[in-house]
Amino acid sequence: MEYNPVGEFIGNNLIGSDKVQALSLEDAKAIPLAEIHAALDGVVDPEIPVLSVKELGVLRDLAWEGDEMVVTITPTYSGCPAMSNFEDDIKLCVEQLGIPNVRIATRLSPAWSSDWLTPEAKAKLLDYGIAPPLEATTSKKVLLGESPEVICPNCRSKNTSEVSRHGSTACKALYQCDDCQEPFDYFKCI
Ligand SMILES: [Zn+2]
Repeated sequence: MEYNPVGEFIGNNLIGSDKVQALSLEDAKAIPLAEIHAALDGVVDPEIPVLSVKELGVLRDLAWEGDEMVVTITPTYSGCPAMSNFEDDIKLCVEQLGIPNVRIATRLSPAWSSDWLTPEAKAKLLDYGIAPPLEATTSKKVLLGESPEVICPNCRSKNTSEVSRHGSTACKALYQCDDCQEPFDYFKCI
């Protein structure tokens, strides 16, 4: 429970005051798509707060379909619990611009691939302490099921080994550095 200095309950009021007045459909449609794109730069992966939906490659399309603003996303993992938060955050972000009818559409084909991560996104992951996938999912090594070359986010050594296929979430595997001994998450190639 949250109270202001005179003892009034303000919890719900705070949420209420954040609500943006919805624009008329005409005004909403006049908002350039580039502006909506720019706003979505601020929506980050709850699991990896340094990466936005755009950097992850999750955001596929933005378009008006009749009177609805349809935001098309491709989830990184259908089983990833972070994805439902993501959808809510994306919807809220677009609604904050005053757009009244926002719908999230999911596109499962082609399936999301770690190849969609930009080089900038991979660098951010490494700085955040998560080893990014370095091989393309189409590389021979990955297709043959050989272990990928994984860089330690702590000391940048390539002398690393897999501890567990399953890290803190389904999208990650647990690795350990054989040089600095630091355990870390590896963002799996999918
Ligand atoms: Zn290391």
